[in-house]
Amino acid sequence: MRTILFVSVVALAAGVTCQPTGNPEATEIWKPVPVLVRTPSDGVPSDAIVLFDGSDLSEWQGDWTVEEGRVTVVPGSGDLVSRRDFGDVQLHIEWRAPAEIEGDGQDRGNSGVFLMERYEVQVLDSFDNETYVNGQAGSIYKQHVPLVNASRPPGEWQSYDIIFRAPRFATDKAVVEPATMTVLHNGVLIQDHVELAGPTVYIGEPVYEAHETKRPLMLQDHQASVSYRNIWIREL
Ligand code: MG
Repeated sequence: MRTILFVSVVALAAGVTCQPTGNPEATEIWKPVPVLVRTPSDGVPSDAIVLFDGSDLSEWQGDWTVEEGRVTVVPGSGDLVSRRDFGDVQLHIEWRAPAEIEGDGQDRGNSGVFLMERYEVQVLDSFDNETYVNGQAGSIYKQHVPLVNASRPPGEWQSYDIIFRAPRFATDKAVVEPATMTVLHNGVLIQDHVELAGPTVYIGEPVYEAHETKRPLMLQDHQASVSYRNIWIREL
């Protein structure tokens, strides 16, 4: 008995297990090779389109103020709209709510990043500012509440990294694939591949209306002096 036990222990220790059989190369993929994108630690990915590097608004239509490397909403002047059109994208954008607190709820540091001029990731000072949670910073406005509140205090720069897939429409204009978004706020995941029910409307239920496959990016004038900087975008 003791001998049998000893042999079993030795067999286990020797790693007598089922070895996989077959050719490992059968499951290797070699082509096509992913394109090399240079990613400088202090800069922009080499395949990105820089929409604002702090110098001018040549990529935009609108009358906001550019100074000291940032562009700031001029309340009442209207939205800032990109000259180029985009569909599926990865967007990096940095924003800052005014340091001086004015107003409450939706009236404190409100702006917004609108993909295709329709689908808003809310910009708001949500550091210590109660409002409806599907309208706080990082919400997909009135559709998706952020998973957590990653807000920094007003006056500090914050970032959004947004992965957006545009909706697809059939030839009869019916939506066949809804838009989706993933959002990181200051590097923290707050929207995890959520589906949009339609444009992010202020009143009523969202309803898709067929539109072009590419549309401009829009930054919202919501009567607050929110600033933006370091805006770049990658077409997917
Ligand atoms: Mg807004």
